[in-house]
Amino acid sequence: MNNSLDPMPLGIDGFTYADLYQPSRLRELHEIFCARVAADDPSLWAEWDAYRTVPESVTSPIERSDLIVRMAPHLSRFVTALFRIASASGELVERTHRLEPLFRFKIDFVRKRALPLVKGGARVALQADDVAIVEELIRPWTDLDPEQAIATAGCALLDREAVTRASGTDDEKADVAATADALKRWCAVRLHDPAYKSWVVFRFPETLDYFNLVHVQRPRPDLPEAMLGPDSLLRRRDGFKLTDPRWTPREVVSEIHYCVLCHERDKDSCSKGLHDKEGRIATNPLGIALPGCPLDEKISEMHMVRKSGDAIGALAIVVVDNPLVAGTGHRSSETAFTACSNRSDHVPRIGTTQAPNAAKCSTNSACI
Ligand code: SF4
Repeated sequence: MNNSLDPMPLGIDGFTYADLYQPSRLRELHEIFCARVAADDPSLWAEWDAYRTVPESVTSPIERSDLIVRMAPHLSRFVTALFRIASASGELVERTHRLEPLFRFKIDFVRKRALPLVKGGARVALQADDVAIVEELIRPWTDLDPEQAIATAGCALLDREAVTRASGTDDEKADVAATADALKRWCAVRLHDPAYKSWVVFRFPETLDYFNLVHVQRPRPDLPEAMLGPDSLLRRRDGFKLTDPRWTPREVVSEIHYCVLCHERDKDSCSKGLHDKEGRIATNPLGIALPGCPLDEKISEMHMVRKSGDAIGALAIVVVDNPLVAGTGHRSSETAFTACSNRSDHVPRIGTTQAPNAAKCSTNSACI
């Protein structure tokens, strides 16, 4: 708490930090926000004003989501100005965009070309020159971390491939094809290599065996009932602290990129539940109902906004349904991810990481 006489002025003229504790001043701040949106985007404001006056007037979930997603950047800009955090939030946008080659490479190269090589447990052998070719390929990007360097080099190769396919000579085409093959094998041998476990470009949902969910070791053949968890998954508990480390921003954004933004088709089962053909809540093979997020958090909309680097807008969207997200985000996501139609073993991590980080930071969530 600030005990000095400094009134801590905010970035909106005439407001200080203490005003945030005064309902009447908050109302004035809200009016300023509304006036700014009305001036910046009159047509959005007209739609929003009708919606906030009579929420039932917007009956289509797709239209409602669209309104919320379009309003988020306005709120984000206002909060950014209010707390004078333009440089931190701008930096976050840049950091998010810098990660994009990872996800293009993951989907357009690793998933399409390397993953099929190891299908069904097939083993891939690196050819003699493969490593040298890949090292040469990444040479221009050695100032980046190795994962980012491979992804950036891979994207450049994809671009070169498109150009040579359209107008290259036969030699150029052969050279690109040989390089792509070497890179493909290089990636395939690392897909299930524990040393590359942290690389998001090699992480894909595994097929879930519902009747063998908990992997165990049975160390004593004479006592098959004796079971232990796999050593590789052992996490020591210290008191009541959570045992899993929070994900890194790169891992969170990777999951966001894996999301196919189902709210645009009203198919966001993570939020609304997975339904069968008759419209009833579906169950998984274990008979467990898949109702989606118990709070109807707008996960898909939040992903869409965060994907652009706007963590404040994303946080604002989730807070509408879960004002206590800072304390509950880690838990409420668990029911949501089981109902995600796009993957069976991955958590849409934004709720588990953005929320606790927002709780740690008292002014903004731009730190994630
Ligand atoms: S988290 Fe899954 S269900 Fe939800 S919007 Fe993304 S892909 Fe769709």
